[in-house]
Amino acid sequence: GKGLAVFTSGGDSQGMNAAVRAVVRMAIYLGCKVFFIKEGYQGMVDGGDNIEEANWSSVSSIIHKGGTVIGSARCMDFKERVGRLKAACNLVKRGITNLVVIGGDGSLTGANLFRQEWSSLLDELLQTSQINKAEREKYKQLNIVGMVGSIDNDFCGTDMTIGTDSALHRIMDAIDAIVSTAYSHQRTFIMEVMGRHCGYLALVTALTSEADYVFIPEMPPPRDWPTKLCTKLEQERTAGQRLNIIIVSEGAIDRDGQPITAEMVKQVVVDNLKQDTRITVLGHVQRGGAPSAFDRVLGCRMGAEAVMALMEATPETEACVVSLDGNQAVRLPLMECVEKTKAVAKAMADKEWELAVQLRGRS
Ligand code: ADP
Repeated sequence: GKGLAVFTSGGDSQGMNAAVRAVVRMAIYLGCKVFFIKEGYQGMVDGGDNIEEANWSSVSSIIHKGGTVIGSARCMDFKERVGRLKAACNLVKRGITNLVVIGGDGSLTGANLFRQEWSSLLDELLQTSQINKAEREKYKQLNIVGMVGSIDNDFCGTDMTIGTDSALHRIMDAIDAIVSTAYSHQRTFIMEVMGRHCGYLALVTALTSEADYVFIPEMPPPRDWPTKLCTKLEQERTAGQRLNIIIVSEGAIDRDGQPITAEMVKQVVVDNLKQDTRITVLGHVQRGGAPSAFDRVLGCRMGAEAVMALMEATPETEACVVSLDGNQAVRLPLMECVEKTKAVAKAMADKEWELAVQLRGRS
């Protein structure tokens, strides 16, 4: 059978285990020899016990777990050709020519580069007698399929990244808990939520939690936001509301591109309204805990589709990323999605927010 390996790289997210499980079982079902690569690219570079053959039962009882049971890591070695050469050697020695990478855009970019270099890496391994001619010929083609695991929903091409829905649930639960105590004491709570440069988590949880104000990077507030914010909060209190909730995305910025932090917002509220104001930074709670039903099913579907894509790959096929389009699992050219994701980041850095939102599309 074909050699296939799965690994998780970059930041972890809920639902990655469901994806790993689906990859392993689908691949075994289709007759592949399947491997886990532990600790992301680091495990691929280091080889040894990090690359372990998987069987049907090695992915039992992981679907309900958060994070990734096969470990994830950032890896400097893989950014250098020497590191990728070691990785290539480790794969060839085990007969692995199909890779499923579950990670963010960095991990996917690395995978694509690896695939482009594959031929020249094998040539070098042959020249230095680390592999033989037969191996050079047998493993000449490396197929790659990516899946995006990220709680931020910051990747172009997919409606939802694996982990986003669980993070939304976690944030919503936390806000619900805060609201009950805020109500009792007539407090104002400022919640900082994750998302890096993407305001999706903040925006959606603001809607689902009746927040009074939300700060997201894609839509910096008007310059007089302190006045607007205070007017809004006062209105709510005058109308009889006993508490206020403000959501600040960790990447929130003003119209000059300068950060708007929870601390700054608190200062504005305290100085102007003298409200009893508290900050809650949710932090890694958002990435933890059990994946939601949506993320488990998403991981399962994406994983199965990824294996099918690998099995159907020809030398002409581009590396692809498996995405969710509406309710469909689809395959999109990996680099096109990565480029688009980078274009969003550039548009935001250039303060072209409308363009950024437009480029990001439905997600
Ligand atoms: P994410 O995948 O979540 O975006 P990173 O950007 O940190 O996270 O990437 C994860 C890992 O992928 C890096 O530690 C590195 O090993 C690998 N990687 C990222 N970008 C590249 C690149 N341009 N070339 C080679 N490897 C890369």
